Amino acid sequence: MNIVLMGLPGAGKGTQADKIVEKYAIPHISTGDMFRAAIQEGTELGVKAKSFMDQGALVPDEVTIGIVRERLSKPDCEKGFLLDGFPRTVPQAEELDNILLQMERKIEHVLNIQVEKEELIARLTGRRICKVCGTSYHLQFKPPTVDGVCDKDGGELYQRADDNPETVTNRLEVNMNQTAPLLSFYDTKGVLSNIDGQQHINDVFNELDVILKDDKQ
Ligand code: AMP
Repeated sequence: MNIVLMGLPGAGKGTQADKIVEKYAIPHISTGDMFRAAIQEGTELGVKAKSFMDQGALVPDEVTIGIVRERLSKPDCEKGFLLDGFPRTVPQAEELDNILLQMERKIEHVLNIQVEKEELIARLTGRRICKVCGTSYHLQFKPPTVDGVCDKDGGELYQRADDNPETVTNRLEVNMNQTAPLLSFYDTKGVLSNIDGQQHINDVFNELDVILKDDKQ
């Protein structure tokens, strides 16, 4: 089961990715996570990626495609994989097709979690994070018991610098412009499914699950 998961920031991709990889026992391959881990470990890849990430720019294709190629060749990907954050551009999608073609495989599902812009802005700007343990709260949807204080360890809650309303709107617009051509690319290939992300978490998963289960029959 070879899957690409798509959705704008705040659409709930992370939550659904966790559920999919658990149920279908496939690896979750997030290029953003791989770059962050490389930076943490201080590897050559981390050094290359950091300057681009710090500016909010895309890491160059030759670097990004290289790590994806290597990751997809690992034995745990034989049964399938869930790609998250890759591809981000049409050239990356074309290169991914080439890599998979060499392995006699292809992308079977592109799952796009859709949430309206106003709802995404509300979700992202209401997010608060514990300074100590990183647990995420939401002023409206998942408030802490005591205002501004983490339920788990009493740590102070803060708002991420890029979660303020102006930056959020800008991030969403940049993202929408980036993903539109990618969505058409996969739509033309007949592998794109749009999922309503404005339902309860479990209902979003059920919708995804029906699409993936269909494939197994
Ligand atoms: P993410 O966690 O997916 O938001 O990614 C964080 C950062 O990692 C992005 O802002 C980029 O700098 C870099 N990155 C992640 N995935 C890609 C990709 N497919 N192509 C280029 N850069 C990427």
